[in-house]
Amino acid sequence: MSEEATTKPIQIAAAVTVSDFAASLGTPVTKVIGELMKNGVMATINETIDFDTAAIIGSDLGFEIIPEPVVVEPSVKDRPKLAEGVGVARPPIVAVMGHVDHGKTSLLDAIRSADVAAGEAGGITQHIGAYQIKRGERWITFLDTPGHEAFTAIRKHGARMTDVAVIVVAADDGVKPQTKEAIKHAQDAGVQLVIAVNKVDKPGADPNRVRQELSELGLVAEEWGGTTVMVDVSAKTGQNVEQLLDMVLLVADIEDLRAEEDAASDGFIIESHLDPGRGPVATLLVLNGTLNTGDIVVCGNAYCKIRSLEDYRGKRIKKAGPGMPVAVSGFKAVPNFGDSFREVADEKTARELVSKVARQDSIKSMVKVKKIGLEELQGAITAGNVKELNVVVKADVQGSLESLTESLNNLRNDEVAVKIIQSGVGELSESDITLAKTTGALLLGFNVSLSSAVKQLANREQVNVQLYRVIYELLDDVRDILGQMLPPEIIETVTGELKILGVFKTTKTAVVCGGQVVSGKVAPKTVMRITRKGEVIGTGTLTSLQKDKQEAKEVFEGEQCGTNVSTVTPIEVGDVLQFFTTESKARTL
Ligand code: GDP
Repeated sequence: MSEEATTKPIQIAAAVTVSDFAASLGTPVTKVIGELMKNGVMATINETIDFDTAAIIGSDLGFEIIPEPVVVEPSVKDRPKLAEGVGVARPPIVAVMGHVDHGKTSLLDAIRSADVAAGEAGGITQHIGAYQIKRGERWITFLDTPGHEAFTAIRKHGARMTDVAVIVVAADDGVKPQTKEAIKHAQDAGVQLVIAVNKVDKPGADPNRVRQELSELGLVAEEWGGTTVMVDVSAKTGQNVEQLLDMVLLVADIEDLRAEEDAASDGFIIESHLDPGRGPVATLLVLNGTLNTGDIVVCGNAYCKIRSLEDYRGKRIKKAGPGMPVAVSGFKAVPNFGDSFREVADEKTARELVSKVARQDSIKSMVKVKKIGLEELQGAITAGNVKELNVVVKADVQGSLESLTESLNNLRNDEVAVKIIQSGVGELSESDITLAKTTGALLLGFNVSLSSAVKQLANREQVNVQLYRVIYELLDDVRDILGQMLPPEIIETVTGELKILGVFKTTKTAVVCGGQVVSGKVAPKTVMRITRKGEVIGTGTLTSLQKDKQEAKEVFEGEQCGTNVSTVTPIEVGDVLQFFTTESKARTL
């Protein structure tokens, strides 16, 4: 280490530019570039290096580099509370969860149809992943992502996006595994709970049994002296649905939900799809601020200049405030369900953020396929005086490509070498695959990604593609393959020597003789050389061994024994049988 180790570890992202990296270290850029060069990485100030490279270079420079923590989407709960008096009340966001068939969909429908505002608007049902209802003067936002698979998604993300979870339990069926799971998710996320004991209209309904079962899970109903709000409802008859809504508002009030209408907006993506006519369309749930047409928002690897906003009734609107779900068109790509979004100042910022995420994603996707075995590479090896491994090399920038090809050319000895069929800069393309296929070469990619089309072609053509983010890993793997191409080293160990003192019978294929073990030990089935006056005159195997006229498993130095040797070489008194084992050892370059 060239410098004293700093005590404070330095956080670095999955990918970082050389200049940003130097700035984080507080080290001159030239020094970082120099250190990279020493390690065989040619990178200019604006080029990006990955975390692993940064960690190596950083530690060479005396720093401890640690990965930047993965950014977790902020939970509604994690959001810092606005100061007293700041902002306006925002509608609570509610998810309906529970066991399958307990009536989630029915309850969402019942709530929706109980809403006067929706009825007035003509009631055209739009499924945008959420809807709003008005109870008195107050709005409530319900996530209504339908279907079973959506439930799984809501379970994963929903509790995090919501303020209140309504847990639906059918009164004729009671607490079921998914009920428990839903409760756990809601509790883990720290959201308020309201239990809807549903289907109370059914003859077999037993709401008290549900309360009993819930109390066993630590959820004791208010009317039983506990703190959990439970309402008996029927999604079918509409009984107590309004009371349920009042209870939802009541528990939401505990949270004092407020938001700033005029701040830059942020929130979550709660639905997204590719509309044949309109392109990518997503439903954004605004948590803070107000979305307007023309605003620019970024979420993960997609951004959007908002072309149009539509509310849950399909009505075009100009702006969407806190707590509102809104269908948005104008996205450049389909954003992911559950991703958070935020408004940015201009398209340039949006593009920069998105390309940063895309870059990190592509680096993340560069998983090494698997350690490649020699059998799979037979096509890439040309035999000759020097066995050659054919490779095609692609790298992200000229600098890395040059240092790579030079290092690969240096990986050789008298028996094996790398033959670079072609090298180039840029992403892996279909023509790289074709070339690798025709030449039987192994395709090596450094800091480049593999699009799914190219990957499919590679699979179809059975071309071996190995992707790397770290130069040494690439070189180590190639060195390893070259090592495997070297014929193994045979290691021989002499285990014992037997001096022949008498020969009793000699046939064409065997000799019965006896002697004394002069070194080591002698055991049946061991291979041997027959030596006479120090010279090898033949080979054989010991088929049986006797000591004191008894079969023996082994006879040691100084002891005498009789043997039966399978050999075509006649053995004479005075010869020495040398027993040995062999072991083949893989070589390395
Ligand atoms: P989900 O799987 O939780 O969304 O359950 P659904 O809403 O699809 O309801 C499952 C079944 O229960 C349907 O056949 C509904 O008609 C029925 N159901 C739902 N709520 C009630 C209710 O309050 N009373 C009665 N009698 N049936 C209900």
